[in-house]
Amino acid sequence: MNDSTIAAISTGLTNSGIGIVRISGCDSLKIIDKIFKGKNNKKLSSEKTYTAHYGRIYDGNKQIDEVIVLIMKAPNTYTREDIVEINCHGGVLVMQQILETVIKYGAVPAEPGEFTKRAFLNGRIDLSQAEAVMDVINSKNEYALNNSISILNGKLFNKIEELRSIIINRAAFIESALDDPEHYDLDNFGDKLLIDVDNIINSVNCMLKTFNNGKLISEGINTVIVGKPNAGKSTLLNNLLGEERAIVTDVAGTTRDTLEEFINIDGITLKVIDTAGIRKTVDIVESIGVKKSIDYVDKSDLILYVVDASVKLDDNDYDIINMIKDKNVIVLQNKNDLEINVEENIIKDTFENVINISAKNDIGIIELKEKIKDLFFNGKLDFNDEICITNVRHKKLLNDTLDSMILIKEGINNCISEDLYLIDLMNAYKSLGLIIGKQVDDDLVDEIFTKFCTGK
Ligand code: GDP
Repeated sequence: MNDSTIAAISTGLTNSGIGIVRISGCDSLKIIDKIFKGKNNKKLSSEKTYTAHYGRIYDGNKQIDEVIVLIMKAPNTYTREDIVEINCHGGVLVMQQILETVIKYGAVPAEPGEFTKRAFLNGRIDLSQAEAVMDVINSKNEYALNNSISILNGKLFNKIEELRSIIINRAAFIESALDDPEHYDLDNFGDKLLIDVDNIINSVNCMLKTFNNGKLISEGINTVIVGKPNAGKSTLLNNLLGEERAIVTDVAGTTRDTLEEFINIDGITLKVIDTAGIRKTVDIVESIGVKKSIDYVDKSDLILYVVDASVKLDDNDYDIINMIKDKNVIVLQNKNDLEINVEENIIKDTFENVINISAKNDIGIIELKEKIKDLFFNGKLDFNDEICITNVRHKKLLNDTLDSMILIKEGINNCISEDLYLIDLMNAYKSLGLIIGKQVDDDLVDEIFTKFCTGK
């Protein structure tokens, strides 16, 4: 356990109704005893865990605020250390004064994420859960939140541990057989190992496959809206945003030339690029130059191509069609409340997904939302048992695991000696361990002595 006692303002640094100053560490109770006075003058350190107490915070004789203090005693706390939470008035100044007082009486300012780091270091949560804490806080939609919560609940940890236990078991068997060939027989071991290796490859591949969806869920689908001037792009954008917004203009050449906006559609997030360009009702292709628009189009996951269906296709449209025809496009034939003059056959021949809409009259928008769900999540966005991998670090480590497993498979097929699998098994074990923050260290030794050396 860490010796220092840390403190921080845990709520946002803006004026609000309530603020929380949190203290964690072995001196938490000692510190609160020095600065808190309740009605009966009882020391909070002598109170029961998980109790709340009304009183005042003092720095010497100077009263700072009227508060409610929560006492949580180790080890059943977020950090597994003694935790005190001071619920005070939510003014920035008063929160800062309370924090300063807490620091004056023995705490040190917490580093970013240090409470969660302690929860990890003290063994309450694994690394994937610690990372999920931030993901829960940053979730942009309910699916991202659901996924982070299930990782927080240990779903990824359990899956990784399941794979690790198979690997360590096999590694320990090889190790034992090399040490003690009399009692452990490696004949046909390769065939048995091959079954496990195939299963692990399968599981890891399944997890890796979720990465793209996971990323789309957590970060949003990169979406570009294209179409010639007056096609109805900004009307569509406003419709999707659900409110009429002021047109944002940026002073030419002085501000960022890309703006992003997040739109939530039934729990899916679209990250729409260059909304400023769209709002200025300037043709995105014309205004930002061909190179840049190709860049946007290339980086996007989804292109919404708004066509003015009341007029014929023109050169602008043909330029756009050429640029996007091989991409993931939904064509929106807009203004379907007017007489249709656009060459629908050309559009249908070029693009698979075409929807008739009227952005202005809110027609076809539900179909558009359904289509987006279809294209990205096969229409269903419930997680069931699946964990979505959203973290690039996890993805890399899963790929490393896969590489090691493939090497073992090749080794078995080429009948190399068993002891050589050991290196790759342990590499895979280590890669998986890093996802949940475990080092290999003594695990192998423990496994051998606890499981294989019985009776010897
Ligand atoms: P942008 O230049 O592509 O952003 O186009 P706007 O969204 O500014 O729309 C251009 C014009 O078309 C505006 O006058 C809109 O009111 C009109 N408009 C947009 N959608 C529709 C629609 O579904 N039906 C009709 N009749 N007019 C529309």
